[in-house]
Amino acid sequence: MSRKESIKKLRDQLIRRRDALHRALEGDLSLLRELHQERTGDILDAAADTVQDELNSQLIEAESRELTAINDAIARFDNGCYGNCEGCEKPIPLTRLRAIPYATDCIDCRRKAERMTTKGGAVMWNRVFDNVEADPV
Ligand SMILES: [Zn+2]
Repeated sequence: MSRKESIKKLRDQLIRRRDALHRALEGDLSLLRELHQERTGDILDAAADTVQDELNSQLIEAESRELTAINDAIARFDNGCYGNCEGCEKPIPLTRLRAIPYATDCIDCRRKAERMTTKGGAVMWNRVFDNVEADPV
């Protein structure tokens, strides 16, 4: 399969993933609303609700961030620059794109960026992706 064909396949995958995330986010949000409505005022229940809300909001945040990344990637397809590194402008290897279809940089540029960035939410988020990619093939 040519790179062009592989990338076309990745676009389909991204669109399916985006639709699934949309549905998940809608589900999570309605669940959150239900939790708020069911509050009884009991302190233990309220504490449990807070923990649950916290978990839900973290999940929603992670899903929202992925959704943003996917939408950006789909926009890059439309611009014709999908699959090229934003750092060095070289084509991102297909193995990396298959692991992270919304990757915007190659591994070299990602590592360079990580070395320069101090520890923070964004870096931790990128680490999650790199761990996925580090799995043996
Ligand atoms: Zn690069």
